[in-house]
Amino acid sequence: MILDLRTLGELPAKVELEGDAQLLKLEMPDVEAVGILQVHLDVISGDSIYYCRGDVACDMKMECSRCLGSYTIRLDGELDFTILKAGEPGRGKGRRRRDEAEAGERPENLVTAMITEFEIDIDGPICEALSLEIPLKPLCDKNCLGLCPQCGVDRNRTECECKHEEVDPRWDDLRKLGNSNQA
Ligand SMILES: [Zn+2]
Ligand SMILES: [Zn+2]
Repeated sequence: MILDLRTLGELPAKVELEGDAQLLKLEMPDVEAVGILQVHLDVISGDSIYYCRGDVACDMKMECSRCLGSYTIRLDGELDFTILKAGEPGRGKGRRRRDEAEAGERPENLVTAMITEFEIDIDGPICEALSLEIPLKPLCDKNCLGLCPQCGVDRNRTECECKHEEVDPRWDDLRKLGNSNQA
């Protein structure tokens, strides 16, 4: 996604961007961004720096870790990155170094941009924000039944004939106890 600095107007500025999520290059296997990618940003400016903070929302298609079916969920990520105006004409390197020294350390999530470029590619921070929101064990539903360990059918869709009552024998005594209580 491109942030065009020329469209910001006076800073601080609020920016709303929309784009095709499929153009996003998520470097994650089994996860695909689909639909419309929405970005809200608050942009403030320092001397030779833009501070951008906001959020990104996108539908993500992924694979359920239990039934291996694909499903789509909406993810919201937080954006917090900085665009450094590098090589600004009329400003020597000394000036830039002084700015960095004033800041104490280099900001995190730095997107370096030449000032001759007005269109800044912000795919990097967007992908990072979204990938932080992807669950470690994606589930299509918290009650997903998963695949039958014996015949492999999707137990959300098909009931198979396999016996699933492979209860740990250590529980037998407890079950007997339960039955006798009922009687
Ligand atoms: Zn599932
Ligand atoms: Zn089965």
